[in-house]
Amino acid sequence: MRGRASAPRRGGGRFTGGVRIDLHTHSLVSDGTDTPTQLVRHAAAAGLDVIGLTDHDTFDGLREAKLAAQASGIEVLAGLEFSTRLGGASVHLLGYGCDPGDDELLDELARVRVGRSDRIPAMVARLTELGMPLTVEDVLAQASGSSLGRPHIADALVAKGYVSRRDIAFRDWLYDGGPAYVNRYCTELTQAIELVHRARGVAVLAHPWGRGRRDDLPEAYLAELAYEYGLDGVEVDHPDHDDDTRAELRAVASRLGLLATGSSDHHGLGKVNNPLGAYTTDPDAYAEIVRRIRSRGGQP
Ligand code: AMP
Ligand code: FE
Ligand code: FE
Ligand code: ZN
Repeated sequence: MRGRASAPRRGGGRFTGGVRIDLHTHSLVSDGTDTPTQLVRHAAAAGLDVIGLTDHDTFDGLREAKLAAQASGIEVLAGLEFSTRLGGASVHLLGYGCDPGDDELLDELARVRVGRSDRIPAMVARLTELGMPLTVEDVLAQASGSSLGRPHIADALVAKGYVSRRDIAFRDWLYDGGPAYVNRYCTELTQAIELVHRARGVAVLAHPWGRGRRDDLPEAYLAELAYEYGLDGVEVDHPDHDDDTRAELRAVASRLGLLATGSSDHHGLGKVNNPLGAYTTDPDAYAEIVRRIRSRGGQP
């Protein structure tokens, strides 16, 4: 691995060495804007030594990213970001090192992706009613992979000239419960943790206290997830967490024996606040994730 101590960083709280590890990124296989190869090249250029590729509800980009990583001299940790629900709330779960051939997990991810695709007609109908005529084809034209999402609808709205940027489309129309929002199928959170573990992977809650999720995931419930479901970790250092939130969540993770990770949640040009390496994961936490994957028989 190459250490680049001089590269700019907003590191995780206990970051010490020169190794830079960003464990949550997206390619255009889901809602990022870089191919897996471009993403890996950008990560190398940004001075990162390791990235986790965590596309939403799919493993499709991993093979290409792993090949590109060999050429770029960085490591790619195989991952995904699993769309789950807790009651009425949407919770994202990062799964690392899952066996990409695990039938039970693949079947459930396919269900989630069908849910993603199935709501597109209803959402374009809403937008059309709202005065922004749009077709399913317009949306498909913005997507490269099988994991469709609101970001692709947002991109279609931009392409039509209805809004100027992805985040404006979310702010005005697509946000949870917004005028053009339609719900979709997501896996129960505890079931998703079990599926990741049965696929021999490591389960880390993504940005658990970002964007109003904190009330849904208080410490007492995180304790239940840790002790009864074997949750492995929580993403502490993330652009959706402010400094106080990060400090408090780090303390919770320490009390509960959960691994603490850090990342950018990079989406290429799709999100402005998430440059590669925005936050990083402590090398010891990364080593422990890889150790657990190996001990369970998964594939980092
Ligand atoms: P979906 O997967 O269809 O539920 O859409 C959620 C995705 O939209 C998330 O994975 C984010 O990447 C993206 N997203 C949410 N809010 C915003 C925003 N304000 N600007 C850009 N992307 C967003
Ligand atoms: Fe996303
Ligand atoms: Fe997420
Ligand atoms: Zn993400």
